[in-house]
Amino acid sequence: MSFDYDAVVIGGGSAGYAAARTLTAGGARTALVESGPELGGLCILRGCMPTKALLHAAELRHAFREAARWGITADNVRVDWAKLFARKDELIADFAGYRRQQLEAGKFRLIRSRVRFADNHTLELADGSRLSAAHFVIATGSVVPPPPIPGLVEAGYLTSDDALRLRELPASVAVLGGGAVALEFAQFFARLGSDVTVIQRSAQVLRDTDEDVARELEKALRREGIRLLTGTQNLRAERVGTGVRLTFEHQGTSQSVDVATVLHGLGRRPNTDSLDLAQAKVLNEAGRILTDPRQRTSAPHIYAAGDCCGPHEIVHVAIQQGETAARNILNPAAASEMDYRILLSVVFTDPAVATVGLSEKAARAEGRKVLVATYPFNDHGKSMILGCQDGFVKLLADAVTGEIVGGACVGPQGGELIHEIAAAMGRRMTVRELAALPHYHPTLAEIWTYPAEELADQLP
Ligand SMILES: Cc1cc2nc3c(=O)[nH]c(=O)nc-3n(C[C@H](O)[C@H](O)[C@H](O)COP(=O)(O)OP(=O)(O)OC[C@H]3O[C@@H](n4cnc5c(N)ncnc54)[C@H](O)[C@@H]3O)c2cc1C
Repeated sequence: MSFDYDAVVIGGGSAGYAAARTLTAGGARTALVESGPELGGLCILRGCMPTKALLHAAELRHAFREAARWGITADNVRVDWAKLFARKDELIADFAGYRRQQLEAGKFRLIRSRVRFADNHTLELADGSRLSAAHFVIATGSVVPPPPIPGLVEAGYLTSDDALRLRELPASVAVLGGGAVALEFAQFFARLGSDVTVIQRSAQVLRDTDEDVARELEKALRREGIRLLTGTQNLRAERVGTGVRLTFEHQGTSQSVDVATVLHGLGRRPNTDSLDLAQAKVLNEAGRILTDPRQRTSAPHIYAAGDCCGPHEIVHVAIQQGETAARNILNPAAASEMDYRILLSVVFTDPAVATVGLSEKAARAEGRKVLVATYPFNDHGKSMILGCQDGFVKLLADAVTGEIVGGACVGPQGGELIHEIAAAMGRRMTVRELAALPHYHPTLAEIWTYPAEELADQLP
């Protein structure tokens, strides 16, 4: 059979662009179809980059407010909301412009349209025209679903997209959810001056993270004045005046909080409803496309990558999945598989929460024998100089071989520090080898040598 293209990629975000770039570099006749009004994808336009731009400003404001500890007077620190958001918008325009150039560079054909599957080798575009391909990579990302909270749709709420377009700081915000996006926004609003309440159903924030790590962040957020309520139940909402009243059960009592606005940070769902996946015989569970480790769906010539399939909705995984899908289309004989052994995760709060590889919780659930050691930042030279009161690093090693199998860092620059452990795990280093590596003094990074030495001493 002859097709219009060797491969068509659906979606031009992080996963889709990575797939199209790899396919083209490998010589495949490729088209990428993108339906969004703007080019750039979630990470650049409404995800990682704009949120981190805002968080940096919040961190600066916080540093000024704390400056007296260092004998520095920073009176009358004010925030110009319009300027703060304008800078964020300028940065995003810059990042998006670069991505637009890459997409429009002509290496593959870029088609601006929404598409759906007409059959398992054919896509139908919005204008009714069709294109066919031998292979497809679905990379259509995720959307915010309506919140599963009775009354909230009627009462009104913000999504993370809306929060990135706010024209002024809300006097008070209730943030629903205890994941990365929810907590980053909670700290942003609180540090700029909003009265913030976080409402979370699970017993701890960052549900899948080790409890000691999550509790350390909770402690720091509470000390900054964020009202953090975990283990809440039966949450419901109603409009009261210009604001929203949230009612819920917490620690056995019925409580309520009145806020100016509510941020829905309860997570996203795969954006696959309009693709007509059944026409292509692509199986999904509640919209999440099922793939094997090669990123192949139930239809062997159709692959998926990024948030539309998961299981980890983060950018570097989306990129790796897109590249893996493309490599398998180009060269099916040399199967390339996703490997999550060195899975990284970073929550850009302050203290940041960064993890890599196995958590203690996951290691115990797997029945794996590991040694665990921690070391606190408040007893470490460089972090004491920085005035850090919170956090610790945690190292996990195989109990017999001493190979590093996981790490966590809740503390200053956690998102940077965790990469030392990722690199060590990449080379399958042992705690003895990590402890013996030179570390400059005084640096934050040298903190890893303490748990590494402690674990090395415990090895048989
Ligand atoms: C507020 C926020 C902060 C975040 N911060 C971080 C962070 O700090 N670090 C991190 O790693 N991750 C972060 N993430 C997650 C990260 O942004 C996503 O995991 C990543 O961008 C997903 O990439 P993707 O390519 O799968 O999807 P997307 O980038 O969403 O791309 C999907 C594309 O497909 C297009 N599309 C959809 N349907 C169709 C169709 N039918 N036809 C044609 N085109 C279609 C869409 O228009 C879109 O451009 C954050 C997310 C949010 C919401």
